[in-house]
Amino acid sequence: MNFELTEEQRAFAQTARDFAQAELAPHAARWDAEGIFPREAIALAGELGFCGLYAPATIDGLALPRLDAALVFEEMAAVDPSTTAFITIHNMATWMLGTWGSDAVRAEWGTALTSGAKLASYCLTEPGAGSDAASLRTRAERDGGDYLISGSKAFISGAGSTDVLVLMARTGGPGAKGISAFAVPADAPGIQYGKKEAKMGWNSQPTRTISFDRVRVPAASLLGAEGEGFKIAMKGLDGGRINIATCSVGAAQGALAAAQRHLHERQQFGRPLAQFQALQFKLADMATELVAARQMVRLAASKLDAGHPDASTYCAMAKRFATDAGFAVCNEALQIHGGYGYIREYPLERLVRDTRVHQILEGTNEIMRVIVARRMLEAGAHDDIR
Ligand SMILES: Cc1cc2nc3c(=O)[nH]c(=O)nc-3n(C[C@H](O)[C@H](O)[C@H](O)COP(=O)(O)OP(=O)(O)OC[C@H]3O[C@@H](n4cnc5c(N)ncnc54)[C@H](O)[C@@H]3O)c2cc1C
Repeated sequence: MNFELTEEQRAFAQTARDFAQAELAPHAARWDAEGIFPREAIALAGELGFCGLYAPATIDGLALPRLDAALVFEEMAAVDPSTTAFITIHNMATWMLGTWGSDAVRAEWGTALTSGAKLASYCLTEPGAGSDAASLRTRAERDGGDYLISGSKAFISGAGSTDVLVLMARTGGPGAKGISAFAVPADAPGIQYGKKEAKMGWNSQPTRTISFDRVRVPAASLLGAEGEGFKIAMKGLDGGRINIATCSVGAAQGALAAAQRHLHERQQFGRPLAQFQALQFKLADMATELVAARQMVRLAASKLDAGHPDASTYCAMAKRFATDAGFAVCNEALQIHGGYGYIREYPLERLVRDTRVHQILEGTNEIMRVIVARRMLEAGAHDDIR
């Protein structure tokens, strides 16, 4: 067992760190304050391959292991979790389209997505179907050689600013097996976008509802076969959960580094804060939790890369643990900054706001516990998860 990164992995992470310092760090606070979606910066990330990190080579993706992709996301999230999280969602949707798309779909969208020239949204959640995603009601009815899609989606990241929607809709009866996945052009006639949601964080990316009124797409838009859509959506989310967990780890690393600096710089009672043992212990706990979270995320990523039968369980555990730990570390780093942590001149309050939603989306942390507990209580599963 080797916990060290290879030289190549370290070089890759360094490239991401340099990109993050040059293209994200100087602007992240303004994008957050003004609600700017940084399309140009995302295109630059695309030039480095960061928009198709684990997408297949057939659509010009880098086809990297999830572990390597996580190294890139972590470096970017340390300065801008919001923009990075959108890039991870784009990577997830691009991977789904590249893995299950027909020749026609891959030819139309593949390279444009992996290069970052075009962007993708992932559309599963509906107003009435959040945690219980398999109860979704958006319908896709067969009409000759086409499908007609009607219904609505809620909380869609990037909506209104992306080019293609990876959409889950019902083609059959109730439950997961009646769901299919489609690649739908974001500007197809019959699609309407709701207002940009005003949010606590993730302000550098828009979130909107989308409604579909008899939106016509050719049958070749189907990803995989009819009825496979929920399975495809969940496979996307296995990687998505590693990505979101990684965004929490990255943000927490950024917050921890700021806290370390502040402890040396700030003086109270005639000495640096670093000399107070209460704060030393806080810092030690933050570092310990963060290292544990990072290792857990990397373990889950390596299980997914290896095709381990329990990879989904490890992804759920990692998402739950790392997003809780990441938020807590950011919040403690804010506390160490005192009043300065609460004002916008420092990045702490933004990191806290941006990481809060990681405990909610791509499956809430309660649903992560449901997934893990269900597996732990299966007959004969006494020793499988360790
Ligand atoms: C900023 C943002 C961006 C998003 N981006 C996307 C996106 O791009 N694409 C997309 O498809 N979705 C997206 N989502 C939706 C997100 O995945 C859902 O909000 C999430 O899955 C929870 O669904 P819900 O909001 O309907 O909450 P609900 O399902 O109504 O849950 C409410 C509460 O009940 C708990 N709960 C529900 N069921 C159970 C249970 N069985 N046991 C225990 N507790 C339970 C939940 O954990 C939660 O605490 C986004 C959400 C946000 C806020």
